[in-house]
Amino acid sequence: MVAPIPSNEEKRLEALASYHILDTLSEQAYDDITFLASQICGTPIAVVSFIDRDRQWFKSKIGLTGSQTPRDIAFCAHAILEPDKILEVPDATLDVRFADNPQVMAEPLIRFYAGAPLVTPDGNALGTLCVIDRERRELTPEQNQSLQALSRQIVAQLELRKALDELAARIAERAEYEQRLEAYQLRLEGINESLSADSQTDKLTGISNRRHFDEEISEEFDRADRRGRPLSILLLDVDKFKAFNDSFGHAAGDETLKRVAKVLSESKRPSDFVARYGGEEFVVLLPNTSEEGAAILAERIRKAIQNFGWDLRPVTVSIGVATYNGGDRTVQQLLEVADEALYSSKSSGRNRVTLGFFKS
Ligand code: GH3
Ligand code: MG
Ligand code: MG
Repeated sequence: MVAPIPSNEEKRLEALASYHILDTLSEQAYDDITFLASQICGTPIAVVSFIDRDRQWFKSKIGLTGSQTPRDIAFCAHAILEPDKILEVPDATLDVRFADNPQVMAEPLIRFYAGAPLVTPDGNALGTLCVIDRERRELTPEQNQSLQALSRQIVAQLELRKALDELAARIAERAEYEQRLEAYQLRLEGINESLSADSQTDKLTGISNRRHFDEEISEEFDRADRRGRPLSILLLDVDKFKAFNDSFGHAAGDETLKRVAKVLSESKRPSDFVARYGGEEFVVLLPNTSEEGAAILAERIRKAIQNFGWDLRPVTVSIGVATYNGGDRTVQQLLEVADEALYSSKSSGRNRVTLGFFKS
């Protein structure tokens, strides 16, 4: 007689699949329990069997060959219909459900069967732990209880494996999240870096902008103060640049500004700082440099620009120099001195360097 399908069959199969036990290799933990069941019940055959949709599959077995049978002829398919109790068949030849079963009529010639359902915590009977004999017999109450206890141990094993699998998956997932987070962080740092570089850079010339210069001069001014060292600045303005634009166009003017910036960058010393101060004005910050040193450098720059090899028209700059030698002065005053000196260079003929001085 074919066993009816349990009413919770789809959920039961889902639960069975969730344990990832079907078609796995044999394991000592299950084989130990099968061994104990056959010892305690005194049967030649003991099996841990799971009822899949169309088959019963043996996770562990003693005294049987083969790893599965069709579900149609499985004793255990009957046993799972009543999850709360052991199905005990003292003599299969006398039981209408099993008398014509091929396993009764032929090898392994089953007479006695007792199967304790493997019931999950949420009530799904996945299979059985069963003991089988070729002779008719009955379980003692102690054997019955032991078989049930062992079947609970099998479910405990299943639960443990499942929990370990889930833990491993969580750990792997977490490692992946951490990796992703690290990648995001690196990207963010990169973006921040380039943002801060952008905010300090002049778009046209690629050198530092006015904002960066303001930060830099304030730092250098304090440092010069602390160390009692001079700080010089050069303020440069391109001569007659409006006329240059008028003659050759704004694009050519832009190109000229880029070249001036390039000459400045190449003429400065590593410790000096070059920035675009505004329109066609540039500034060079010279830490730890006296007025004499600044004048020499200014002259070198003036010549370098004059001798650049301009194609459209000679380009020159006027330069104002200011030096801070300590005392009760401000950055603002230093810039004013440089600006006045620059104005003197302009008014006295352009393409020249003028040293500025504090008035009082
Ligand atoms: P001076 O010798 O007295 O400095 O004469 P100047 O013509 O250079 O002075 P002015 O201040 O009259 O003109 C500056 C010109 O610089 C006007 C402006 O169009 C030009 N300029 C400022 N910024 C830029 C820029 O980014 N690109 C171009 N092509 N021209 C610029
Ligand atoms: Mg100007
Ligand atoms: Mg100018």
